[in-house]
Amino acid sequence: MWRAPRSPRARVRIIGRCADTRNTPQVHAAVAGRAGIMVGFAARSGPVAQWWSRGLIIPWLQVRILPGPPHRQLPEASTSASRRRSTGEGGGLTRVERYGRTHARTRALTPLIIGAGVLLLAAALGLAWALTAGTSSASAPTVADAGLTQSPASSLGETPSSGATGSAVGLDIEVPDVVGKSVQVAEALITAAGLTVQTRVSDVGSAGVKVDAVLEQAPSAGVRVQGGSVVTLTYQPKYGVTASGKTFVVVVDAGHQAKPDMGLEPNGPGSSVRKAKVSPGVMGVATGAQESVESLAIALRVREALKASGVDVVMVRTADDVNISNSERARIGNRAHADLVVRVHQSFSSDPVLEGVTTFFPSGNAWVTAIEMPSRAAAQHLEDAVVRATGARKHDIVGRSDLSGFNYSTVPAVMIECGYLSNRAEDAKLATPEYRLKIGDGIAAGVMDYLRTL
Ligand SMILES: [Zn+2]
Repeated sequence: MWRAPRSPRARVRIIGRCADTRNTPQVHAAVAGRAGIMVGFAARSGPVAQWWSRGLIIPWLQVRILPGPPHRQLPEASTSASRRRSTGEGGGLTRVERYGRTHARTRALTPLIIGAGVLLLAAALGLAWALTAGTSSASAPTVADAGLTQSPASSLGETPSSGATGSAVGLDIEVPDVVGKSVQVAEALITAAGLTVQTRVSDVGSAGVKVDAVLEQAPSAGVRVQGGSVVTLTYQPKYGVTASGKTFVVVVDAGHQAKPDMGLEPNGPGSSVRKAKVSPGVMGVATGAQESVESLAIALRVREALKASGVDVVMVRTADDVNISNSERARIGNRAHADLVVRVHQSFSSDPVLEGVTTFFPSGNAWVTAIEMPSRAAAQHLEDAVVRATGARKHDIVGRSDLSGFNYSTVPAVMIECGYLSNRAEDAKLATPEYRLKIGDGIAAGVMDYLRTL
């Protein structure tokens, strides 16, 4: 938190008391407290005061510089015992005694005091002006009032009136509007307003959400609360980077391509089983949409959402007119040392009623033993998150041993089939940008859910 610089030789008291009830000693106390300056009180006359009394909101206010030790905040409404403990250099003196001493030293420094006082008065008035609008508590005497309006001796040992000792407690402070601001800036603003910050992580998945910005605040902006009240900020932290500073890498593979490659390749390293390098994708029964085009649109949204969360994203392809075999796609993930490879596809069935989201993970052969467990965990996160984001029908996640894109992978990998292009209604939904966006955000949220477990 920012603190006002303090001179080692002199401390400053903004000493004010205003006839205007909106500018109470408590207000000045809060202003001064925020700026790291102590509040006191001055006589109600003098040229500066008279000048301010002409038509300005703050009728009179005076500032004194009190030479002495660096200021230490006194406990508010304290007992005499606690006052003694907290008087710093003053040792066992009460506030009033100490005031008497510093008052004497003040006179010796009068020329300096007047010059600096005028400058400080201007600064204090600016702050007070900004912060006192609408404040309605009535003017009340302060401890320092007693020190100035009575002789130090006569007020010695007098118990200060509680609630008027420069404390911000009891003040009517307006909660600032910090939604959308970065958490760092929001914390600074709320602290500067004399309130206390508490943060909490949003329950909402991070996909599509501005990272490290305040999503919600409680109480809302404009609500009036007491000084020191807690303002809770809800935000989505940047999860793309681990505590150790490592940035997560996710490879996104939009399934298929404009033209299939029916040339064969082993379905795993050294395998005798051979499969098409890139099989033709499926096509929507209602819309005629191509799986490769649809998957790419969703994959690009996944990239956008993951990047917003601070993840490094590697795309296997960003265009439809490419030729990259499934084994090569897996190698892209391996070379990137991906924390997860996400393969985006669509389903097709002879059953026109079948619909919903299905997620596959590598399983059932020696090639994928090392990645099966984390891949299965990731698959469950993706299935859950996409169903949550879309309301689509949920299916059990399924282990697959026959997919080249899995069998060549040395890093965790999943394949999500976002919907059935054989289902007319689901096909129609998948053809809309809105639904693709929901799916993309759902996939990214699932990825983030998985990365958080690492
Ligand atoms: Zn496919």
